[in-house]
Amino acid sequence: MTALPLYRAPEELRAALAPLRARGDLGFVPTMGALHEGHLSLIRASAAHSATTVVSVFVNPAQFGPNEDFDAYPRMLQDDIAAAKSAGADVIFAPDKAGIYPEPYRTFIEVEEITGTLCGRSRQGHFRGVATVVWKLLQIVDPDRAFFGAKDAQQVRVIRQMVRDLLGRWEIVACPTVRESDGLAMSSRYCYLTNEERARAAVILEAVRVAIARIEKGERHAGRIRVAIMERIEAASLRPDYVDVVSLGDLAPANEMNGDVLIAVAAFAGTTRLIDNVCIRIGDHVEERLP
Ligand code: AMP
Repeated sequence: MTALPLYRAPEELRAALAPLRARGDLGFVPTMGALHEGHLSLIRASAAHSATTVVSVFVNPAQFGPNEDFDAYPRMLQDDIAAAKSAGADVIFAPDKAGIYPEPYRTFIEVEEITGTLCGRSRQGHFRGVATVVWKLLQIVDPDRAFFGAKDAQQVRVIRQMVRDLLGRWEIVACPTVRESDGLAMSSRYCYLTNEERARAAVILEAVRVAIARIEKGERHAGRIRVAIMERIEAASLRPDYVDVVSLGDLAPANEMNGDVLIAVAAFAGTTRLIDNVCIRIGDHVEERLP
């Protein structure tokens, strides 16, 4: 099996992609590597829509806080290349830090307001790093479409807002969260979990599902839903970072729930921070939707 073409320098990737654009649409899947089925589902979605699919693997230092896991983050590029190929990728872009942040580096993108809640509140500067790197990657790859996971719903909202505000021409596509059989949203950070923590982590989705069942029965008070989720998570000895029920449009707290609502949870199992996000549309009935 021949390996996929791998580019390290932005200008090399640009040159390689130029002739491929004539073949048809270009799809892009940005990742931090340690690819799992969640990432592969995005690559498959891109491959189904695009003549060429580019996957980037870059552990972005700008989105990690000083006390977070940048150094420990799993790195396994050769495995990632093979997995990406099996899912339909055509090109890998794995830049080094100097290629993305040439020294002295001084320019960042701030998306306002919707980055001040949820993960943005507990991870100061996280979305400034995410927005900056995603903008740069989109500029380099210049795809027709870029694919992102609903698991990181706030990230999808922030990227859509950035592309809209800065007049980017790329379509941002959200894809469903891929889960383990017990409901846990797949994550590259799994590798940090002990077996015992891993078993307890499934309570996150279970708690959200129980909450949605209450909403289906008519509960519309966001505070009670938050408390119910929090209690279940704490009962499983996970430490909630936040449990929030926000309106999907502006990510501001929804007191009386209606319309499009995001239920967002971040919780620690031991020292590992896990997140999950479920978007629902509340109308005559309740249905799950993409962010
Ligand atoms: P990451 O490598 O964690 O930065 O994630 C790269 C992309 O994969 C992001 O768009 C994530 O939202 C997406 N992703 C991560 N985990 C999942 C999952 N379990 N299901 C679907 N998409 C995911």
